[in-house]
Amino acid sequence: SRSYSAEASLPKDENREGFKGHDMLAPFTAGWQSTDLHPLVIERSEGSYVYDINGKKYLDSLAGLWCTALGGNEPRLVEAATAQLKKLPFYHSFWNRTTKPSLDLARDLLDLFTAKKMAKAFFVNSGSEANDTQVKLVWYYNNALGRPNKKKFIARAKSYHGSTLISASLSGLPALHQKFDLPAPFVLHTDCPHYWRFHLPGETEEEFSTRLAKNLEELILKEGPETIAAFIAEPVMGAGGVIPPPATYFDKIQAVVKKYDILFIADEVICAFGRLGSMFGCDKYNIKPDMVSLAKALSSAYMPIGAVLVSPEVSDVIHSQSNKLGTFSHGFTYSGHPVSCAVAIEAIKIYKERNMVEKVRSISPKFQDGLKAFSDSPIVGEIRGTGLILGTEFTDNKSPNDPFPPEWGVGAYFGAQCEKNGMLVRVSGDNIMMSPPFIMTPEEVDELIRIYGIALKETEERVLELKSQ
Ligand code: PMP
Repeated sequence: SRSYSAEASLPKDENREGFKGHDMLAPFTAGWQSTDLHPLVIERSEGSYVYDINGKKYLDSLAGLWCTALGGNEPRLVEAATAQLKKLPFYHSFWNRTTKPSLDLARDLLDLFTAKKMAKAFFVNSGSEANDTQVKLVWYYNNALGRPNKKKFIARAKSYHGSTLISASLSGLPALHQKFDLPAPFVLHTDCPHYWRFHLPGETEEEFSTRLAKNLEELILKEGPETIAAFIAEPVMGAGGVIPPPATYFDKIQAVVKKYDILFIADEVICAFGRLGSMFGCDKYNIKPDMVSLAKALSSAYMPIGAVLVSPEVSDVIHSQSNKLGTFSHGFTYSGHPVSCAVAIEAIKIYKERNMVEKVRSISPKFQDGLKAFSDSPIVGEIRGTGLILGTEFTDNKSPNDPFPPEWGVGAYFGAQCEKNGMLVRVSGDNIMMSPPFIMTPEEVDELIRIYGIALKETEERVLELKSQ
C-alpha cells in the first residue's frame, strides 16, 4: 500500500525527470516510489557537496550514508586506487595466499585501535558482512571451547547492524524484520538506551542506565548465561535515530556482560575514525570490546571494505584449536581486496596526518550548538548528538509520547524542504539524521544550519496548517 508521504511530502522537483519506472530494484525504497516518482540522480561530488544530473548542488549532510568522511573528491584516495589498479587489480586472501595491501592494512588497524589490544583483522566488503562474520567467529570460538550451547546474541531495540539475514536479525528495527521472517531465533533484543524516550518520571540518566543493566542481567539469567554468547552494540546508535548512550551506560552494561562470560562486540561502522571526536567510539565511552566491526569511513567509502578486529583471547582459541576444527572456512572473494585495502591505508594515513579527530572536535561545537539552538521549536521533540552526528526527532507538545500522525509525513516534509533548499538529510519517519563529512568548513556548517532553519520554519508552518484543518 502507498505510504502517507507519497503525495504530500516528497519533492516535486523539476530536476527529477526522465527516470520514472527505472530498472533497479532499489534498496530501502518503496516499490511505488521507484515506479511512480523520479529518483534523485547524483552525478558528481566535490568536498562536502554532491551534484545531481541537472547540476543542482546539495550540501551532503549525511556524507553519503554516514561514510564519505573525506568528502567527495579527495585526490589521494583516487591516486591510491589508481596505483593499485595498475599494479595488481585483484588477488585474493584464501589458503594462506594474500596481497601486501591487505597485510599492511591489518597492521595499521591493529595499531590504530588502542581501547583494547586487538590481535587480528578479518576483511569483508561491508558492515553487514562484518557483523555476519562476528556471529560465525563467536560460534566457531564457542565450538572450539566445547560450549555448543553458548550461541545466543543479545542486541538492542532500535539498533542497526546491517541488512543481510543475520545482521538484519541483530538489528532492532521492526521494518528490517517484518515481511522477511526475521529475526533469527538465536537473537534477543534488550532495551534501547534512549533516555528522553524511555526514562521513568524522576529517573536520572545514571538511574536509567542502572535499570537497563539490571534488565539485561535479568534477560541473561532468564535465558541461562550458558546460552548467551555475545552482546553487540553501536557506541552511538545511528540509523535508529542517533542515540548517544546515557551517562554510565556502557560501564554498567560491560560489567554485566563480563560477569557472565559474554563477548562484547562493538559495532563501530558509523562511529569509527573520528566521527564522535575520538578515533573510535570505544575510546570515547571506555568500551573494552572483544571484537570490533568497521566499514564506511575505513575507506571514506571510496571502495567497499569492512573489517572485523578480534582480541587475542578470541583469536588465540581459534588458532590454537585449528588442529581440532580444521580450516576456518569463512571468507569472501573480495576479503582484503587489494584496491579497497590500498584506499583504506591512504584514508587512515590522511586521518592521522590531518589530525582528523582534532578537526572534528574543533568544528563539532559549532555544528552541535548551532542545531541544538532549534530545540525550542514547537515541533521538535529532541535534538541529540555528539561530534559530527546529530538526530532530530519531531513530536508534538515536546513529548516522546505525542507523535504526529504518520499520514502528515512531518519528517518527509522537512527532508523535502532541505532538498529543495540544497541539502540532503536522512529521513526515517519523523527522525532526521545528519553526519556530515569530517572535512566540513565552518562556512559549510553555517550553511547547513541556515538550510536546516529554513526547512524547520517551513515544516512548522505546514504542521500549523495541518492542525487547523
Ligand atoms: N552497522 C552499522 C552501525 C551501520 O550503521 C551499518 C550501515 N548503516 C551497518 C552495520 C551495515 O553496513 P553496510 O550497509 O555496509 O552493510
